[in-house]
Amino acid sequence: MTVEVTSIGDHVSIDDDATHLLFNTADSGLYRIELITRKLLVLIHDYGIEAARSLIKEDDIENVAEEKLSELKENKFLDPLPEFVPQETSPIMFASLNVSHDCNLNCRYCYGGGGTYAGDPCHMSTDVGELAVDRLFEWCDDSELLGINFFGGEPLLNVKLIQHLVSYATERAHAEEKKVRFSMTSNGTLFTDEIVAFLKESNIGVLVSMDGPKHVQDVNRPFRNGKGSYDVIADRLQSLLAVRPHLTARATLTKDCMSLSTLVDGLRDVGFTYVHVEPLTPYENCPFALSEEDFETLKDEYDKLGHIFLENILNGTPFGFSNILRTLSAIYTSGVRHYPCGAGKNLMAVDPMGGIYICHRFVGMEDFSMGTLNDPDFSIQKRLLQAHVDARDECRNCWARHLCAGSCWYDNYVYSGAIDRPHSPRCSLFKHIAALSMVIFSKLHEKDKALLDKMFRKHEPSYRRGEFPEDERT
Ligand code: SF4
Ligand code: SF4
Repeated sequence: MTVEVTSIGDHVSIDDDATHLLFNTADSGLYRIELITRKLLVLIHDYGIEAARSLIKEDDIENVAEEKLSELKENKFLDPLPEFVPQETSPIMFASLNVSHDCNLNCRYCYGGGGTYAGDPCHMSTDVGELAVDRLFEWCDDSELLGINFFGGEPLLNVKLIQHLVSYATERAHAEEKKVRFSMTSNGTLFTDEIVAFLKESNIGVLVSMDGPKHVQDVNRPFRNGKGSYDVIADRLQSLLAVRPHLTARATLTKDCMSLSTLVDGLRDVGFTYVHVEPLTPYENCPFALSEEDFETLKDEYDKLGHIFLENILNGTPFGFSNILRTLSAIYTSGVRHYPCGAGKNLMAVDPMGGIYICHRFVGMEDFSMGTLNDPDFSIQKRLLQAHVDARDECRNCWARHLCAGSCWYDNYVYSGAIDRPHSPRCSLFKHIAALSMVIFSKLHEKDKALLDKMFRKHEPSYRRGEFPEDERT
């Protein structure tokens, strides 16, 4: 799938020998166009409509060009993008509860200091957990659908509190005629039959952090005693898979294993249907952080996997590569995002002591605090709401901005020291994956449009529109 990607103002054209695609940033619309339309759009962008007209007149394709110009106008390709006006405040609709600052694994890249966030290991108490749920209901205004994610450390080390809070929040939701969706991010080592039964009964969504086949997982995510965790997780997952056959793995990619297909095959072998891969966000002087060249190499890896993804989907083999699925979904639903996620906007992360932060990855970082459950301070919310993607210097002219929405605040912060200044190798990789996804979308559309309808008509992926953190890990 070798394609040429050319930015034309607020649009991007994606061309190979046979096909010309045009993506409209305004509404995430993807159009199959003819070469003349592409040529016309480039001229309009470079010289304006009238000059483009007179340049085209010198050619014998004038009549065709006029027709294509009308089409561009009709499809609003020539209109300026509507200005996005941010809200002043936002209700909190999602709570990520760090029910355990403790972990039985010792992942070599953990940003949470081995699960304890640089403090002593501890668990959230019932009082703090109930207060967090109460505050969620108080701060959600009239939102009818709320979300609670159980996070850590390893949240299942405090499963008793999770069980209690599920009942507590469900009762309160019932009394207030609201709904709560529960989810959990787990390292997968503690799925006993009893816990699996509870997860099923309570309809708790589970995202499992796992990095791939045994030789990768055991090095990246060993137990505290140094022993590899792969065998335990592969075994424990089976009872969960019996009740949740389509599980998602969230894998972290390091310099030591850059083969995406190796990671993905390893995860599919254990039973995962959906895989989301993110390059490691490194700590200072991290020896297995990706270099700028590594980000370039990854593009070929995504191309290979994109090909496998397409073949699998077309021949009916269940395989979801969510890095690609998210762009397919955005195109299908005309999804436009102005924020990378709900962090600080409609999401709060709560630590075991009742401290509030903009998201789970910022827990313990005072600059990103929103006070405490008893003494909240939402002043940072205004700043985050103003930092939407159309307002940022680095992003406002990027054709991928309404798909990417400016990249994870935390990743930006780690790389550049500013939450709204992105890391350009990541940007380049994101745009490569987005363009690849567009080619895949057009091939699916051409070969089996009904399949696209089936995949996305009722699809409400949790990562869309900042509803839930998209980048959770333990
Ligand atoms: S973070 Fe990078 S890819 Fe994303 S919108 Fe900004 S410039 Fe574009
Ligand atoms: S993308 Fe996820 S990890 Fe990044 S800032 Fe948003 S919620 Fe936090």
